[in-house]
Amino acid sequence: MSFAAHLLEESEGKVAGRLVELEESALPAGEVTVAVEYSTLNYKDGMILQGIGRLVRRYPHVPGVDFAGTVEASEDPRYRPGDKVVLTGWRVGETHWGGYAGKARVRADWLVPLPEGLTARRAMAIGTAGLTAMLAVLELERHGLAPGGDLPVLVTGAAGGVGSVAVALLARLGYRVAASTGRAASHGYLKQLGAAEILERAELAEPPARPLDSERWAGCIDAVGGTTLAHLLSQMGYGRAVAAVGLAGGNRLDTTVLPFLLRGVRLLGIDSVMRPYADRIEAWNRLVADLPLDKLDAMTGEAGLADLPALAEAILAGRVQGRTVIDVRR
Ligand code: NDP
Repeated sequence: MSFAAHLLEESEGKVAGRLVELEESALPAGEVTVAVEYSTLNYKDGMILQGIGRLVRRYPHVPGVDFAGTVEASEDPRYRPGDKVVLTGWRVGETHWGGYAGKARVRADWLVPLPEGLTARRAMAIGTAGLTAMLAVLELERHGLAPGGDLPVLVTGAAGGVGSVAVALLARLGYRVAASTGRAASHGYLKQLGAAEILERAELAEPPARPLDSERWAGCIDAVGGTTLAHLLSQMGYGRAVAAVGLAGGNRLDTTVLPFLLRGVRLLGIDSVMRPYADRIEAWNRLVADLPLDKLDAMTGEAGLADLPALAEAILAGRVQGRTVIDVRR
């Protein structure tokens, strides 16, 4: 039985995708074949769909860095046909064919069982971006962040995928959340997710006025990087931590050592791609327990495989609000 897929091909250095029908024999090697139900749109998917950053080295390629679906066939005793599973990371959608197709074949080690209490759609509404937000919260908590302090927790790129989940999670956990966004139209949305205050993106986008400024933040989840990260580092409270997750605003970091030396600030890099099984299970369990489903649903849009080229352009331009699930059967 053939299935629909978004296939990327490269010609004369240009990458373009089209909707095709594939046979199962075309799938890469792996122990588990999954009938994919949902994948999602992440910033990295946008880069891959547009051939930016040379994340994909071999074409033709099926992108989609995460997916949820049902096991169809398995050579691994941990999974049986009919089991519901989720996959994020492991460079699936980059070095291995990913979730923008009706079927995927992957290594059993890369999968986790669909967390109890979630549908495939909601698991993907969380997806790579949501898992990353949760990993950032866990890392900040390990470094002493706790609700009830005097300063708010800052989330940058707040109206995006990672940012939206981070805002909803932190608010639910009892933190006072300050959300930085470049979109005036998203202020109401962010308040609905639980943000107590909104900052204009421009406020942090300039290089910091001085290496150390007034202490403003109890912690930070930063999806933007670049001058925004340099700026907020100068405003961190004493001994506080920043979870750096992204680079939507640039990958260069021009700062000084002063926040680290004189304020004991910690810069925690978050990588969701190569996380071991135990970390993933912990993060998924915490997401099920802590992320309000009504807020998750409010931040989720839905699209089909045919919408991917337009969505790639939109997410790289910072025009996609919240999370977008891709129903691959549509
Ligand atoms: P989104 O595009 O959904 O969110 C990014 C947000 O950043 C935008 O919504 C926008 O928020 C803001 N933004 C966009 N462009 C700029 C700019 N030029 N300057 C300042 N702010 C900008 O992407 P995701 O949430 O999927 O990913 C966010 C980042 O996190 C990406 O860099 C991605 O690669 C990274 N990431 C990292 C992971 C990891 O494991 N470390 C995993 C997942 C993602 P607003 O409109 O509110 O200002």
